[in-house]
Amino acid sequence: MIDPESEESGTDAIVADLRRAGCVFAEEEAALLRQAASSSGELAALVARRIDGIPLEYLVGWADFRGVRVALDPGVFVPRQRTAFLIDEALERTAARPGDRRTVVDMCCGSGALGLAATTALRTGGVDVELVAADIDTVAVACARRNLEPLGAQVFQGDLFAALPGELVGRVDLLLANTPYVPTAMIARMPPEARDHEPRTALDGGEDGLDVLRRVADAAGRWLTVGGWMLVEIGTAQMDTATAIVAAAGLRPAIAESSDYGATVVCGTRTHAG
Ligand code: GLN
Repeated sequence: MIDPESEESGTDAIVADLRRAGCVFAEEEAALLRQAASSSGELAALVARRIDGIPLEYLVGWADFRGVRVALDPGVFVPRQRTAFLIDEALERTAARPGDRRTVVDMCCGSGALGLAATTALRTGGVDVELVAADIDTVAVACARRNLEPLGAQVFQGDLFAALPGELVGRVDLLLANTPYVPTAMIARMPPEARDHEPRTALDGGEDGLDVLRRVADAAGRWLTVGGWMLVEIGTAQMDTATAIVAAAGLRPAIAESSDYGATVVCGTRTHAG
């Protein structure tokens, strides 16, 4: 951290530069970059990289997600604020009370933000949580391990459920996933920060954006407890197709939407054994 007093005027210049480069929250970004830098040289370098379009979260090394600090490495999907709604919804649906126990899976975990936020909230409420996370991407798995191992969680690398230990079959209370859901043809229209810096595997959901949801939903029933919930973020326009996918997979579907968060989540619960 560099001396706040002596850097006052420098910060004004930084704010102006960031604003010119199109950063909407230029003051906040300047303050975060200043905190992250240990010298004025380093600060200048960080500002230059930010102006080049590197996501702020990669430069400072963390993102705030639902009030929890998530460590973030370059090349790992940046948790979106809207996804906090998925956690709110998961907590409501699982309706755990102090002393209860929940098994939570963060599938396609990226940094592990969902698992971290859900576990933190449940444990704060006195709930005992077993957390397991998985991702196909090596860089994401390393980042998720940094975030989740301190919670006693295990993070596996592999293709969706193939990554999970078999002993979780029929035992998962909450299956949380921010799967890639951007239709392939829309990737080119994403903001450059996402398109140029985040891994394609975390964004590209195939022709209609729901390829990975299809695969997760198809297998989810086998891994959930009866009464357990799968929650997956989608785009609003995908609501009807996603509901049909979840129903066809044998789960009872529900849609949760929040205009405050600008988020839509498709949910599915396992209603019976076998
Ligand atoms: N449109 C979403 C976003 O950029 C994509 C997230 C995703 O595919 N999981 O936030």
